[in-house]
Amino acid sequence: MPRKVDFLVVGSGIAGLTFATRSASYGKVLVLTKKRKADSNTNYAQGGIAAVFGPNDTFNMHINDTLRTGAGLCHKDVVRIMVKKGPSLVKELYHMGCRFSLNSHGKFDLGQEGGHSRRRIVHARDHTGQEIERVLLEEIKEKGIELSENEVVLDIIVVDGECRGVYYLDTNKKKIDVIFANAVILATGGAGQLYLHTTNPPIATGDGIAMAYRAGAKIANMEFVQFHPTAVYNINIDGRAFLISEAVRGEGGILKTKDGKPFMKKYSPLGNLAPRDIVARACILEMIKTGSKYVLLDLSHLKSGYIKKRFPTIYETCLEWGIDITREPIPVVPAAHYICGGIMVNSWAESSLKRLFALGECAFTGVHGANRLASNSLLEALVFATRAAERIKEITDIRPMKRIKLNPARVGPNLKLVIKELMDRYVNVIRSEKGLEQARHNIEDYEKKFAEGIHIINAESRNMTDVAKLIIISALKRKESRGLHYLMEYPEPDARYKKDTIIVRENR
Ligand SMILES: Cc1cc2nc3c(=O)[nH]c(=O)nc-3n(C[C@H](O)[C@H](O)[C@H](O)COP(=O)(O)OP(=O)(O)OC[C@H]3O[C@@H](n4cnc5c(N)ncnc54)[C@H](O)[C@@H]3O)c2cc1C
Repeated sequence: MPRKVDFLVVGSGIAGLTFATRSASYGKVLVLTKKRKADSNTNYAQGGIAAVFGPNDTFNMHINDTLRTGAGLCHKDVVRIMVKKGPSLVKELYHMGCRFSLNSHGKFDLGQEGGHSRRRIVHARDHTGQEIERVLLEEIKEKGIELSENEVVLDIIVVDGECRGVYYLDTNKKKIDVIFANAVILATGGAGQLYLHTTNPPIATGDGIAMAYRAGAKIANMEFVQFHPTAVYNINIDGRAFLISEAVRGEGGILKTKDGKPFMKKYSPLGNLAPRDIVARACILEMIKTGSKYVLLDLSHLKSGYIKKRFPTIYETCLEWGIDITREPIPVVPAAHYICGGIMVNSWAESSLKRLFALGECAFTGVHGANRLASNSLLEALVFATRAAERIKEITDIRPMKRIKLNPARVGPNLKLVIKELMDRYVNVIRSEKGLEQARHNIEDYEKKFAEGIHIINAESRNMTDVAKLIIISALKRKESRGLHYLMEYPEPDARYKKDTIIVRENR
């Protein structure tokens, strides 16, 4: 008889772990994660977590910065919830043992990042995510919550229009299994691996979004893919480009062309601290103009001791690759970083499919609108995972199910590289309708290679195909330029498109 738990959490980043630690007193929680427990986007977050602590900061200022960056598409009520809940939850993390950097008065040493009108980034030097992940994993252990590694969740079980559990691949036993649950909580992170240049680790293949889409849940705003303007050029570890945090520009780093000319003032009065979409487009345009494959990020004018103390990971990693950032500029390129769209949820993290919740980067809560404000994503995950745990108390038991008819097991092709090349070429920072149409044509061809059923081999390729299709179709629907979505034929925002792009799978 298949196993049953109360709450099945998929993913062990900030979202999944926060939910698990906060819901454990309401029922049996099981966390499944597809690689090792700390393999997550969370573990790589450098900059920090945005929250109102500064003496001259207010909730309204943080709300307004978020709304301005979101270019008219943020859901204001949800932004307000996130911003107001932020400080108490960040303090809780601190009291749980997160070693956030403090100033000489023993208060949080608040960093500055692009799009923020105040210093409000709580950080643990430049490895904030790693510190949060460490503390949450300790809490999981202390509370005796079951966490199982190397379990790849493949698809969601839907019976009578509601989610009843998942199919998953136990990679140790090499066997597909089923788990029933009163609620499934998807916290599977982002989809940066759809692109050649990405800051995301290999786990970020959009699995949760693809699974929810196939299960019939609503998916929203997938056209808004955030490219981080400054990833180190051409140096990849595990297919991941090393990120140079926005905080580097916050502390005075300057973007320059290959021949050393600063250029950001031409593109925005905010200069190097303009929102990421503007900075990423400016970098691409300057690379085209100068015929260069990268631009430069220079912080060598700052004091060497300060650089080493404030950015130890960046300093040491660059040094390993022969770049001494205290003396010379870093060659950088924009790289896929964050997906603003995802599984559409309400402010309690409930998706449109009963008993299916979504949290963190795979969810669409509406807080980011057309562009994410820096360091709002860890905050979003923390706040809505906590709210989901409050809501989960009310979940009723599913009717016991003795058995389930297994969908046929399938083997699909490995299309990872083909998809990355397609997305890089046609669905990048600057898009055209013609390019998007070509991309749609190709992706519909790839889609046919994956028959209905549970894909056990190359499941990630199938997920990447589905997510690529969602991004392409959403981008084609939005005939304007807004936030992260820039379409050459329609370079301005158009009031008729001041709404979310919602997609539900047809023919089910
Ligand atoms: C380099 C980098 C720097 C960043 N810096 C910042 C920052 O300074 N501030 C900020 O706010 N945000 C930052 N972000 C974004 C932020 O880190 C992420 O949005 C956030 O950590 C996402 O958390 P999550 O819990 O939703 O997903 P993740 O942390 O990515 O966790 C996803 C989990 O799901 C698991 N999983 C995925 N698919 C499956 C499956 N099929 N079966 C089982 N398990 C699965 C993964 O293995 C992983 O454990 C950064 C991101 C990157 C990549």
